[in-house]
Amino acid sequence: MKNFEISRRNLLNSFGALAAGCASASLSGCGGTAAAAESAVTQGELLLQGGRILTMDAAGTEIIKGDVHIKNGVIAAVGANISAPAAQVIDASNTVVMPGFVETHWHMWNGLWKGMANDATEYFRLRSLAANYTSKDHYLAVKYSALQAINAGITTCHDWADGARNYDDFAAHMQALAEVGIRAKASYPGTSSGIAAPRGELVRARDWMQANSEGRMQLGLLLDGAGGLFEQQVRMARELGIAPLTNHEGFLNHPGVLGPEFVYTHGTDIQDADIAMVKSYGIKIGLCPSTDPMIGVGLPPIYKLITQGIKRENMGLSVDVTAQTSPEPFEMMRVLVNASRIQQSGMNAIFDVVKAAPSWVFGYSDALKLATAGGANVLGWADSIGSLVAGKRADVIMVRLDDINMQPSAQSSIHIQLVQCGATHNIDTVIVDGVVRKRGGRLLGVDVKQLTAQVASAQEALRSRAGLA
Ligand SMILES: [Zn+2]
Repeated sequence: MKNFEISRRNLLNSFGALAAGCASASLSGCGGTAAAAESAVTQGELLLQGGRILTMDAAGTEIIKGDVHIKNGVIAAVGANISAPAAQVIDASNTVVMPGFVETHWHMWNGLWKGMANDATEYFRLRSLAANYTSKDHYLAVKYSALQAINAGITTCHDWADGARNYDDFAAHMQALAEVGIRAKASYPGTSSGIAAPRGELVRARDWMQANSEGRMQLGLLLDGAGGLFEQQVRMARELGIAPLTNHEGFLNHPGVLGPEFVYTHGTDIQDADIAMVKSYGIKIGLCPSTDPMIGVGLPPIYKLITQGIKRENMGLSVDVTAQTSPEPFEMMRVLVNASRIQQSGMNAIFDVVKAAPSWVFGYSDALKLATAGGANVLGWADSIGSLVAGKRADVIMVRLDDINMQPSAQSSIHIQLVQCGATHNIDTVIVDGVVRKRGGRLLGVDVKQLTAQVASAQEALRSRAGLA
């Protein structure tokens, strides 16, 4: 841990040496140069003015032209013509202002493998690379993954640290997440090679997050391969206030300890009896629309889940892995809607589907809800994030509507436009906990070229240590 311990005070400063001297930077940059503009992380009182607002609140409130007022990291008000004379104004015209996307299950440590795994066979073979990882590799991989998330409009993620072999490795995850400034659950391996994670380590990780993330981070627990230790570790996690509790699908045979803080992942082959169980315990589901089709196991069973009574609020998007993919919320939403239609129509011939004129059970607004408020609920944070409501933490994104792929766009079609046409390059601004982390389409406070060079050389060193070509 010692190499990665940082104080809360230093988190913002450590975000990049380039930030030095930019403490009072305006939103358009510090000193007016492009390089400096990319370095200035902005915080304070903000007014996002004149945007098309999708609050994603329970009533589905939308405002054609409105403002979002942010103060002390909190959404102070959402409405038309808000007066906030002390706030820095961000022009939100020609953008959709909405809650940041919430991600629910991501093995962020394998972010260094990009380009190395062709399919699931290779992916699982490469998992043995964990033995060759240094704590610094964990730090770099998680930092790289988290910055890609922010770039894509993901303001909250769930880091599965299943490659961490000890507390120092996990500490590297925590530090990377804290430095990047993303909101995160980070889940500790509940067992390792048949040995239970010691209570002291869980307490230490839980307390570090509490002391160093200004409320943005909380500890969860992974239960893959827990075997006979499963129930013991669940009870310990509950006692320590650790959630969510999660693994890869194998927990439904422990009905004695299940509860609403469990997250079921993937589920392409989920059976009706399992869906009934998930429903009865209030278990949440993290769907993997990018990786499951890519590795050939199928599409997320969204039509089945919806028609068997699982609410969209109890499901979230999972990036899962970035060894072969990038975090792309728009693409994930698109796959979900399209998968649901394929499953609902039964893959009939095109004119049979047209003639049947089905009323689709999972639509664009459902996908947007699942990607924001749903994810927040999956992670146990429904009260603090996932919608633009006064009093919630200020995790907000602005999506450009005047980019080449986004016009014309009528108010009535805005959900379609976002889901079927949206792309990461349309993410103009990303605010996490009231801090501007991306502005004008550029990540702030990070030298992207330097970071990608570090990642490339870390992968090269890793391959060399592992004896890979
Ligand atoms: Zn997974």
